[in-house]
Amino acid sequence: MIKRTVLFFLVAAFCLSFFSFDKTSPDRIQQKAIKTIIIDPGHGGHDAGAKGQYSYEKDICLDVSLKVGAMIEKQFPDIKVLYTRKTDTYPALHARANFANENKGDLFLCIHVNSAPMKRVSEQIGTKKVTYYVGKGKNRKKKTKDVPQYRYYNLPSTAKGTETYIWGAGKTDDKELAVRENASMLTEDNYKEKYGELDPTSPEFIALSLLKTKQYFKRSATLAGYVQDEFVKVGRVDRDVKQRPVGIWVLQATAMPSVLVETGFISNPEEEKYLNSEEGQKELSTCILEALKKYIAWLEEKQETDIKDSNTQSSSPLPELDAKAFLEMIEHKEKQGRTK
Ligand SMILES: [Zn+2]
Repeated sequence: MIKRTVLFFLVAAFCLSFFSFDKTSPDRIQQKAIKTIIIDPGHGGHDAGAKGQYSYEKDICLDVSLKVGAMIEKQFPDIKVLYTRKTDTYPALHARANFANENKGDLFLCIHVNSAPMKRVSEQIGTKKVTYYVGKGKNRKKKTKDVPQYRYYNLPSTAKGTETYIWGAGKTDDKELAVRENASMLTEDNYKEKYGELDPTSPEFIALSLLKTKQYFKRSATLAGYVQDEFVKVGRVDRDVKQRPVGIWVLQATAMPSVLVETGFISNPEEEKYLNSEEGQKELSTCILEALKKYIAWLEEKQETDIKDSNTQSSSPLPELDAKAFLEMIEHKEKQGRTK
């Protein structure tokens, strides 16, 4: 009996030492923050995207994407750069997302070009004399008045600058909606293989999806912020980081941090020229590369503190929360973050 107790303690001690050893085992050692980057040049083939006076969005997207990719390969020879398209073709959006997921991308970078509708403007070109009558019967009098005459025409929008989109929702309702949409999407593809018997409408599943989204959200938002910072440095008009709850499907469907850069406005003649120029494209690509450098440094620093944290704390499983409480927690944390 005593022997058995001793044996039990020995086994327990061994297990404990094994677990504590596990925390410093090779898989805990810092890994490369980014191994694979998926670059997605917007549109392509039959989908020209936005049209300028002489150029198409799809061509600018491809040019800038290839330049960014080449710069990344030169700066980070260890990083694998993959493109959803390298020529003038149109891969379907789900194919682009699948490609990114199957290749286990650590980052999904979409390059697009913005457009704003023409502005309808009017200009007074003179006046026209108009005759009218007042009074009745004998008192009826003929009068004239000058009526202004206008000419109407369209002017290109003066909107300019860059903006970077990330997927995420502003309101709790949007988040719930978006996560539910994600959940239904997950049911389509090898769902059981990937997720077993999980019910995608269960609060636990929604909470888990949210946690996942939240992880990517922080990274996507950080990179997007760096991208905009770099554009500001070179004097581009800053249209800020924007969130889209729905609409940019590729951002939502890729299981990795993802950003979509709207590099400039093809609808603005001045910007169209910039977007098509060698210098303009080089400048845009350099900004994205610089932002990426900062992002990778941030990730590596974050990884180091994460390793320290996991060595001091025992990793706790996701607490059982209902979706509503979970959403409120995220909302609250976000508010705290914003006031900092
Ligand atoms: Zn586009």
